[in-house]
Amino acid sequence: MIDLDQCEIEVSCPTCGFYEPVTLKQIRLGDVVVCRGCKSNMRLIDHMHEVAKARKAIRRQLDALAEYAQKTITLRF
Ligand SMILES: [Zn+2]
Repeated sequence: MIDLDQCEIEVSCPTCGFYEPVTLKQIRLGDVVVCRGCKSNMRLIDHMHEVAKARKAIRRQLDALAEYAQKTITLRF
Protein backbone atom coordinates (compact mmCIF):
# COMPACT_ATOMS: atom_id res chain seq x y z
CA MET A 1 0.00 0.00 0.00
CA ILE A 2 1.22 3.49 -0.80
CA ASP A 3 2.40 5.54 2.17
CA LEU A 4 0.73 8.86 1.48
CA ASP A 5 2.67 10.49 4.33
CA GLN A 6 5.81 10.21 2.18
CA CYS A 7 4.30 12.01 -0.84
CA GLU A 8 6.13 15.25 -1.54
CA ILE A 9 4.81 18.56 -2.74
CA GLU A 10 6.63 21.86 -3.18
CA VAL A 11 5.71 24.92 -1.17
CA SER A 12 6.88 28.43 -1.91
CA CYS A 13 8.70 30.40 0.79
CA PRO A 14 6.62 33.49 1.66
CA THR A 15 9.82 35.53 2.15
CA CYS A 16 11.96 34.73 -0.91
CA GLY A 17 9.75 32.53 -3.10
CA PHE A 18 12.20 29.62 -3.10
CA TYR A 19 10.44 26.29 -3.58
CA GLU A 20 10.93 23.77 -0.82
CA PRO A 21 9.90 20.09 -1.05
CA VAL A 22 7.89 18.91 1.98
CA THR A 23 6.04 15.69 2.71
CA LEU A 24 2.36 15.39 3.52
CA LYS A 25 3.42 14.09 6.93
CA GLN A 26 5.35 17.29 7.64
CA ILE A 27 2.30 19.33 6.73
CA ARG A 28 -0.03 17.09 8.72
CA LEU A 29 2.18 17.46 11.82
CA GLY A 30 2.67 21.21 11.39
CA ASP A 31 6.45 20.92 11.13
CA VAL A 32 8.79 23.86 10.82
CA VAL A 33 11.19 23.70 7.84
CA VAL A 34 14.14 25.95 7.09
CA CYS A 35 14.03 27.61 3.67
CA ARG A 36 17.10 26.68 1.63
CA GLY A 37 16.94 30.07 -0.08
CA CYS A 38 16.83 32.61 2.75
CA LYS A 39 17.20 30.32 5.79
CA SER A 40 14.01 31.59 7.43
CA ASN A 41 11.73 29.22 9.32
CA MET A 42 8.47 28.22 7.68
CA ARG A 43 5.74 26.69 9.80
CA LEU A 44 3.58 24.37 7.73
CA ILE A 45 -0.09 24.89 8.51
CA ASP A 46 -2.79 22.55 7.23
CA HIS A 47 -5.48 25.18 6.95
CA MET A 48 -8.97 23.70 7.32
CA HIS A 49 -7.38 20.20 7.42
CA GLU A 50 -7.16 20.10 3.63
CA VAL A 51 -4.32 17.54 3.71
CA ALA A 52 -6.46 15.16 5.77
CA LYS A 53 -9.36 15.64 3.35
CA ALA A 54 -7.11 15.01 0.34
CA ARG A 55 -5.64 11.89 1.97
CA LYS A 56 -9.14 10.48 2.54
CA ALA A 57 -10.12 11.22 -1.06
CA ILE A 58 -6.96 9.57 -2.43
CA ARG A 59 -7.46 6.55 -0.14
CA ARG A 60 -11.07 6.15 -1.37
CA GLN A 61 -9.89 6.25 -4.98
CA LEU A 62 -7.13 3.69 -4.33
CA ASP A 63 -9.65 1.39 -2.61
CA ALA A 64 -12.00 1.76 -5.58
CA LEU A 65 -9.16 0.95 -7.97
CA ALA A 66 -8.23 -2.16 -5.97
CA GLU A 67 -11.85 -3.29 -5.89
CA TYR A 68 -12.17 -2.77 -9.65
CA ALA A 69 -8.95 -4.68 -10.29
CA GLN A 70 -10.13 -7.62 -8.17
CA LYS A 71 -13.33 -7.85 -10.19
CA THR A 72 -11.78 -7.54 -13.62
CA ILE A 73 -8.39 -9.22 -13.54
CA THR A 74 -8.40 -12.86 -14.58
CA LEU A 75 -5.45 -15.13 -13.98
CA ARG A 76 -4.74 -17.81 -16.57
CA PHE A 77 -2.28 -20.61 -16.18
ZN1 LIG B 1 13.01 31.75 1.72
